[in-house]
Amino acid sequence: MTPIPCQLCNAFYPATQWTWWVCNTCGYRVCPPCLGRQKGPYGSGHKCGRCPHGRMASSR
Ligand SMILES: [Zn+2]
Ligand SMILES: [Zn+2]
Repeated sequence: MTPIPCQLCNAFYPATQWTWWVCNTCGYRVCPPCLGRQKGPYGSGHKCGRCPHGRMASSR
C-alpha cells in the first residue's frame, strides 16, 4: 500500500486506511487536520477553496 500526500501539508498517509477529505469537483485532497486549515479564493473548511462549486467530502 502506497502512502499518498496531503495536498496541503504534504504529510504522507496510507491511501486506504485514512479518512481523506476530497473535493467532489476538482479532486483537491487534504488530511482531516487540514480540513479546518484549507482555504482559498472560493471558500474554506467544507467548502473547497480551489474551485467555485466543489465541496469537501469524506472519502468514506
Ligand atoms: Zn494535511
Ligand atoms: Zn474543489
